[in-house]
Amino acid sequence: MGRKKIAVIGIGKIAQDQHLPVIDKSADFELAACVSQRGVGHRDVPVFRTAAELYEKMPEVGLVSICTPPGVRHAYVREAIDAGKDVLLEKPPTPTITEFQDLVAYGEKRGRVLFQTWHSRYNAAVDATRKILKKEGVASLRIDWRESVRKWHPGQDWVWEVGGFGVCDPGINAMSIFTEIMPFPVFVESSRLKFPANRQTPVDVEIAFRSNEKHQPKMSAGFNWLEESGEVWTISIETGKGTRLKLEKGGTVLVVDGEVKIANPSEEYEAIYARFARLLKKKKSEMDGSPLLLIGDAFLLGARENVEEFHW
Ligand code: NAP
Repeated sequence: MGRKKIAVIGIGKIAQDQHLPVIDKSADFELAACVSQRGVGHRDVPVFRTAAELYEKMPEVGLVSICTPPGVRHAYVREAIDAGKDVLLEKPPTPTITEFQDLVAYGEKRGRVLFQTWHSRYNAAVDATRKILKKEGVASLRIDWRESVRKWHPGQDWVWEVGGFGVCDPGINAMSIFTEIMPFPVFVESSRLKFPANRQTPVDVEIAFRSNEKHQPKMSAGFNWLEESGEVWTISIETGKGTRLKLEKGGTVLVVDGEVKIANPSEEYEAIYARFARLLKKKKSEMDGSPLLLIGDAFLLGARENVEEFHW
């Protein structure tokens, strides 16, 4: 079977850093076109200004990867489903839970394969942690997710607009690992959101979680977007048996009782496209919204505080 033709929609940072190079070397997919409002292309493939033009001019392209900001994702995914395409979605899925649920239902109704990606989950260290916690339980857990917005989202004003998630854009990556590794359901107990006085989304978030577990494990998360000393993407856990785990570097490194057990180079997007190929083969969607639900709850329960203005 030949490689499947795929188009990438929204040729911004993540499309250029990951999607396009990973598709280029994939044995399963062939880049057939780009859709870019600004007319940005890749190699010599055709570039369309709108998805509608792509669907009209190249009906043979059956797949799209949607790499836009989340605010416009619902409309793009609906349009793709209407055009009969199977769809890979960047994270975060959509700015609202109702839009996400609508996509799940609409994809199912129209018999399309939809794949909601959560790139941080595609790490051996994350899998290993899930297995340890299933066996040993959780006594306490702390998530520290701090990075520089200036480094990771240079000049991207959408992150500060309503629906742009603010620091919860990276924070939802931590939630995608958290929801993957936990052996029991978790809930937001309280949250505190700090908003730059001149922006609409938070720059710093602190969340306390609770569970139904009798021993009431202490669980919390802190996200910050003004960390200029390098990335801190760490989840520290004490298991029910007293083992100390540290998932570091965004889920790529696992340290057990002070000893590095797994330290793999990140191949998250290679794994994402391999999974998409398997889902297409099985004609099966994968639409897990649990990280979005936790972030939504953090906003619903969020106490607001205004802090210093943010300027690039
Ligand atoms: P970006 O650099 O701003 O790129 C997004 C692109 O989407 C834009 O360049 C634009 O490309 C297109 N677009 C379509 N409608 C748009 C609109 N209304 N406003 C702005 N852009 C629009 O953003 P990004 O960093 O690639 O992030 C895109 C998505 O990937 C986000 O959901 C983000 O969370 C996720 N992600 C980002 C990273 C990262 O390292 N930055 C990592 C993992 C995941 P055209 O002009 O080509 O249409």
